Amino acid sequence: MSVIDQIILLQDVDNKLFEINKLLGDLPKQVQELTDQEEFTKNSLSEKEEKLKVTTVDMHSSETLIATTQEKVDGLKDKLIDGSISNNKEYDAMMETIDYEKNIIFEKENELLVLMETKETLSKEIDEDKAALDGIIEELNTKKEALNKKVEDVSEEKNALTKEHDGIVVDIDKDTLDKYTQIYEARSGVACSEILDSNCEGCGGYIPPQVVNEALAKSIVYCGTCSRFLHKSEN
Ligand SMILES: [Zn+2]
Repeated sequence: MSVIDQIILLQDVDNKLFEINKLLGDLPKQVQELTDQEEFTKNSLSEKEEKLKVTTVDMHSSETLIATTQEKVDGLKDKLIDGSISNNKEYDAMMETIDYEKNIIFEKENELLVLMETKETLSKEIDEDKAALDGIIEELNTKKEALNKKVEDVSEEKNALTKEHDGIVVDIDKDTLDKYTQIYEARSGVACSEILDSNCEGCGGYIPPQVVNEALAKSIVYCGTCSRFLHKSEN
């Protein structure tokens, strides 16, 4: 195989390697994103469960307070009729205390209502989250498995291409190879250009007839404008 044909082959292999490295770079990120998503769902669920516990405790406190305050009110009401009140002043004071305690009950009952609503909402959300989480985890695991398999396959392909790259470069002299590497990097992976009519396909620059003939003879020639390796097929 002529050196120019090897250079063309090398560019093809190197471009595939470039794409694979890009893909390999992105796959672990995708796996990480899925793992984060699973973690987030689990955390959100345990936060809701914790909130539900607190709400239940608060409800219990409110219920207890309502019950004890109600007992207090009942006791005070008994005193109103059991003859232990001797004058209007005491009666007024007693009524005031009863009103005060009744107001506490009223406020606590309102709080309790809000807590009950919160509990109902949380319980519903937790049930939904739990039902969803199993599905999410299964989906994530399937995706992760597929991604890991892809990483494996791509790594295999990368190894094969690297071998191919190494196999090609041993046959190319150092100066030509250095030139190729320079142009490959400078021209973003397009180091070779075909001559179309009398022009470089890569940059459109004019290629003199002598250079066209040399390219046809498979000699190493470069575009005078963009410095790419030139090649031309017979027809
Ligand atoms: Zn050119």
